[in-house]
Amino acid sequence: MRRGRFAPTPSGLLHIGNARTALLAWLQMRKAGGVFVLRMEDIDGPRSRPEFARQILADLRWLGLDWDEGPDTGGPFSPYTQSERLERYAAALDRLDREGWLYPCFCSRAERLSVASAPHGLASEGPAYPGTCRGLTRRERRDKAVFRRPSLRFALPDRPVEFRDAAAGLQTFAPGAGGDFIVRRSDGIYGYQLAVAVDDAEMGITDVLRGRDLLDSTPRQILLLRALDLPVPQYAHIPLMHGPDGKRLSKRHGDISLTAIRASGTPPEKVVGVLAYASGLIERPEPVKPAELINSFRMEMIPSEPVVWDQPLQSLLAL
Ligand code: GLU
Repeated sequence: MRRGRFAPTPSGLLHIGNARTALLAWLQMRKAGGVFVLRMEDIDGPRSRPEFARQILADLRWLGLDWDEGPDTGGPFSPYTQSERLERYAAALDRLDREGWLYPCFCSRAERLSVASAPHGLASEGPAYPGTCRGLTRRERRDKAVFRRPSLRFALPDRPVEFRDAAAGLQTFAPGAGGDFIVRRSDGIYGYQLAVAVDDAEMGITDVLRGRDLLDSTPRQILLLRALDLPVPQYAHIPLMHGPDGKRLSKRHGDISLTAIRASGTPPEKVVGVLAYASGLIERPEPVKPAELINSFRMEMIPSEPVVWDQPLQSLLAL
């Protein structure tokens, strides 16, 4: 049985682009007759907030999406909220450590440490970590540990990573791309890559449909899964929705949160109709319920270029 998921981070509200990703991931599973899982990725406590998590679930339901397993519905792989799964990440780290994949890093570059639990890929992380602490002797590690709690890094193997993405095609990442990455921050917060890889495997996820901004994360997740002897899902990284300025959708493009759209009185079928139209699923931007899109849905319909959230598209949402 195929199993897909949508995994929002509750550090803010869902915007129209996230809603589109959720809709497409849901359609992929509903069409396949599979199981759709909702997972709340609140691993970065300081940035995630329970009120956003609640609102995200409410907004997705309002849109007409449902899930077979999730934080509120439960399911065989409970819990579905990352902050409640910490012992699983600890167990995975123990195993990686025993098998020699990890090393402590004492570098204090604050910005590096703070991005470890951010979902997005290499582009947002600045220059790759040069491996400064990789070759420290045991004694140097001991001496440094007196003054500073280290983060833990995964030592990338010296081989390229290749995988075939169902939306983006064959991907090849050079050996060491992005540098050794953090799996646990010095403040104890587990890295995003680790949590996602462990959860996808433990929740039996076979299909990961998500935004192309996460493509750079994938080789790291694959390396973690291989090191842990866990199955690697089939990935499909779909082109994102962009603002008219060509940048990834964000607050700078106005209040495009589902919560705001909902508050303006726009009916959910209209939102789904516009998203389906912009994603090549229907020919005219007519109001539609997600369930009405299942029969005709095919992955190949999803455009291979970013969808631009431009004025004509925005005006379709107007009342
Ligand atoms: N939690 C991530 C985000 O909100 C998505 C993770 C994933 O789909 O793998 O961007």
